[in-house]
Amino acid sequence: MTYRFVPPYIRDIVPYPPGKPIEEVERELGIPHSVKIASNENPLGTSPLALRAMKRALKGLNRYPDGSGFYLKNKLSAMHGVRPEAIVLGNGSNEIIELIIRTFMQPGDEAIIADPSFLIYSITVKASGGRPVVVRLLDDCGYDIAGMLRAVGRRTRLLFVSNPNNPTGTILSRRDYRRLVRGLPGHVIVVDDAAYREFVRSDDYPDGIDELKKRPRHLIVLRTFSKLYGLAGLRIGYGVTTPELAGYLERVRQPFNVNSLAQAAALAALDDRTFIQRTLRNNRNGLAYLYRSLDRMGVRFIPTEANFFLIKVSPTMTGRQAFARLLKRGIIVRDMTSYGLGDYIRINVGTPSENRRFIGELREILGL
Ligand SMILES: *Cc1c(COP(=O)(O)O)cnc(C)c1O
Repeated sequence: MTYRFVPPYIRDIVPYPPGKPIEEVERELGIPHSVKIASNENPLGTSPLALRAMKRALKGLNRYPDGSGFYLKNKLSAMHGVRPEAIVLGNGSNEIIELIIRTFMQPGDEAIIADPSFLIYSITVKASGGRPVVVRLLDDCGYDIAGMLRAVGRRTRLLFVSNPNNPTGTILSRRDYRRLVRGLPGHVIVVDDAAYREFVRSDDYPDGIDELKKRPRHLIVLRTFSKLYGLAGLRIGYGVTTPELAGYLERVRQPFNVNSLAQAAALAALDDRTFIQRTLRNNRNGLAYLYRSLDRMGVRFIPTEANFFLIKVSPTMTGRQAFARLLKRGIIVRDMTSYGLGDYIRINVGTPSENRRFIGELREILGL
């Protein structure tokens, strides 16, 4: 018996490819100590200050969380120099992406999205009956600013910028960012997804929150606790925008969308300078080691501003083959076929020993 009343735009969505639980992969392959470098998570674990704060918050679990996110919004407000009313908290920044689409798009409206970029944007736009308008990245993985501006029409409501861009790890320069943001008509809201902002080392990176402070714009900047702070499993992120746009998002969100452990952990993690510095240092050193090793092996890759990057495994094999062969050796990387990047795998920086294991196994499967 088939159900015939699913909206066609839901039936047509290609689901986001979820990985199996790491324990299940290990059990199936008989490999107890696998290395997971597929989802850009923090390889050092979670901020110890956040863990301690969660333990203290456990005894309040019989109560609903603070639906206003009072303490966290105040802290973020001071940290970024914006009003608390300009901040929206979410169950991961992915929830805020969904909220933005539900709040500002009606069926038939369009959202401009780069390709390849984060898959969640198109999936979520389609799930609301919206139309993703896809603009290919340039050959150097840069955003096609002119192409994106040309793609704007009467029904365009949103334009997504992933900066650094997942999965390429590349950034928009300050000049390109301004050309894009300032070139858009007033009916288009820019969603600047800065999930990896803290890892960026380029001094030509345009900070969306600074841009917002210079002049109020139709711009929503997304940040997350999932990467730098090692809280991906807890689901907490936030958006910074104008109080006006934040007000609309606040009307649409669930009243208790961010749980109390997440709020307590996030507050503490922001203060954990030691963990933040350790994470950034591990990323810097790990990238230097991985780049050096790949260069020596003659393997091509795309240099990154984030904690992950693309490695070209063709013509020796396809990305899907490399993924399968590495998996058998207990190394979980990201197959990029669903992003249309069949020649590549994506990895994130691991701990020093995880990085060494990855390089060793990659060398063997590539026959180098
Ligand atoms: C990891 C990631 C996020 C974070 O999403 P959360 O829901 O906050 O975990 C957001 N955007 C991009 C592009 C990402 O890669």
